[in-house]
Amino acid sequence: MFDRFNRHINYLRISVTDRCNLRCTYCMPEEGIHLLSHKDILTFDEIKNFTEAAVANGVTKVRITGGEPLVRKGITTLVRMISDIKGINDLSMTTNGVLLKQYADELRLAGLHRVNISLDTLDPEEFRAITRTGNINEVFEGIKAAKNAGLLPVKINCVVKESKEEEEAKAVTRFCKDNGLEIRYIKQMDLVNGHFSMVDGGTGGDCSLCNRLRLTANGKLKPCLFNNIEFDIREIGFEKAIKLAVELKPECGSKNETDTFYNIGG
Ligand code: SAM
Ligand code: SF4
Repeated sequence: MFDRFNRHINYLRISVTDRCNLRCTYCMPEEGIHLLSHKDILTFDEIKNFTEAAVANGVTKVRITGGEPLVRKGITTLVRMISDIKGINDLSMTTNGVLLKQYADELRLAGLHRVNISLDTLDPEEFRAITRTGNINEVFEGIKAAKNAGLLPVKINCVVKESKEEEEAKAVTRFCKDNGLEIRYIKQMDLVNGHFSMVDGGTGGDCSLCNRLRLTANGKLKPCLFNNIEFDIREIGFEKAIKLAVELKPECGSKNETDTFYNIGG
């Protein structure tokens, strides 16, 4: 699919839940979030059928995200349902890594190709401060498990305040070099005020190269992270939602006053 600005739209990011087992300061309020009710959350069949429609329209790359995708019950079944769709040549997941030790092998067997794991610091105290509840050792174990399971390349998403030259980020960079991991730096963003920027090591943040559509856990198809435009796939149907999202994908992001990272998936 090509949009009005001749961008080739072939990448679908699916948020499979708004729930999370961490509470990162830049992503969720401390008191937790207003959770979607179960009936609003897309079923596995809806996600699979929508993904099939997107693939039939030219999507070849799919990422599963959240919230934390590994807290969605039966996630490996969903991964299998998606990996069975013919035409996807890159199937990945973004996870905080906490539950990866438990799931890495199953995910690989279910057909997941690779993972991105979020890690902003190597310091256990700082990690706890950022995530409010997390134990960094679980993430280290998750990274090891992902490598052993062959979910390669394992990429690390490192959120920075300003630049990758910050001490915490430099330590994560060294850790990645020593452990055969790729790293991409994400500048901490503010959706509501429209503060977003290039990601070093990835293509996110550069609107002229944006090839993405995003499906939220409750079935809203969004052509842009930094915009309120969305189409409800249950209300208007899969084909129409895909057509409109591609047709109306904005040239460049501005502001998103209706969403937060945990429900769109970052
Ligand atoms: N829970 C999973 C995780 O943390 O990897 C997947 C969902 S999370 C919303 C996806 C990515 O968005 C993570 O790499 C996270 O660090 C990033 N993220 C969350 N809030 C952000 C913010 N305000 N600015 C930049 N990146 C953010
Ligand atoms: Fe959870 Fe990921 Fe948001 Fe952290 S960034 S609170 S791990 S969804």
